[in-house]
Amino acid sequence: MIIVIKKDATQAEVDHVVEKIKSLGLAVHISKGKERTIIGAIGDESALASTPLEIMPGVEKVMPILKPYKVVSKEFRSEATVIDVEGRKIGGAEVQVIAGPCSVETKELLLDCARKVKKSGARILRGGAYKPRTSPYSFQGLGEEGLKYLAYVKRETGLPIVSELMDPRDTELFCEYVDVIQIGARNMQNFRLLTEVGRVKKPILLKRGLAATIKEFLMSTEYIASQGNTDIILCERGIRTFETSTRNTLDLSAVPVLKAETHLPVFVDPSHATGKWDLVAPLSRAAVAVGADGLMIEVHSDPENALCDGEQSLKPDKFDSLMKDLRAIAAAIGRTL
Ligand code: PEP
Ligand code: MN
Repeated sequence: MIIVIKKDATQAEVDHVVEKIKSLGLAVHISKGKERTIIGAIGDESALASTPLEIMPGVEKVMPILKPYKVVSKEFRSEATVIDVEGRKIGGAEVQVIAGPCSVETKELLLDCARKVKKSGARILRGGAYKPRTSPYSFQGLGEEGLKYLAYVKRETGLPIVSELMDPRDTELFCEYVDVIQIGARNMQNFRLLTEVGRVKKPILLKRGLAATIKEFLMSTEYIASQGNTDIILCERGIRTFETSTRNTLDLSAVPVLKAETHLPVFVDPSHATGKWDLVAPLSRAAVAVGADGLMIEVHSDPENALCDGEQSLKPDKFDSLMKDLRAIAAAIGRTL
């Protein structure tokens, strides 16, 4: 249920409404927009049936949220959510690019890659320390050592970092080291993990599951948001279809569909979507044109010898020329990059 507060309501009136909702056993989410304050009462709404919130002082109107996802829906908040990552604004007019290797390998390679992508205009560095590999015999990542390398490279370059969390038991560790916690496609419906990161005070980058519908994607987002953490970046990274010429099928239509349904920023990862480095540039350009708020791109200085996903990694010089194209496309649609 959405409770729209009158423009001239006092804080005491707002507090009173909040207390009333809580006393009915519902969770309260407050959204303070430029124009209006809106209170979301989330939970078993039958408790509200016999409680006429409309007549409470300070309340303008009460409306049901019709979508199954509540806090993340446009109905709850019509203004775009802008997430601050160490001064980088995500979800605003600027298109942000996250770049870096699939996995953290050596300190030197990571630093070299970070310096190069930063020079080309990337604003956030990626690098996996715990890797969700299909085979238990493949490189699994450096673990905490990898997080330490990321933190070192952040100190050297000033680039904030994003890395994938796979196990709820590592949440505290991640909060110490990273600026954005990534939840990978394979864990999009790991509800314990989603609930856990819903309680932290770090932005979350949630990737779409390999076979998830947009509704399922948004319901997973709601798992995080319902716990209080609404700093969530959604990331379309390709879905499984009958097509085998690409690793996955990039669902570009998900971008405008998600932007119509949610106030949260939407990113595209063309690297995991295609699995082929030469398809990364055209689909990155398309993603910016279709309205993505940002991109996540794998970049490696020596893809042939990469420990993971070399075949889809761009070399730094290719990434640099792609960034120039993206800047022109962003400008054409009234955005910056
Ligand atoms: C990744 O970004 O490192 C990754 C494993 O991606 P996904 O979860 O989309 O497969
Ligand atoms: Mn990868």
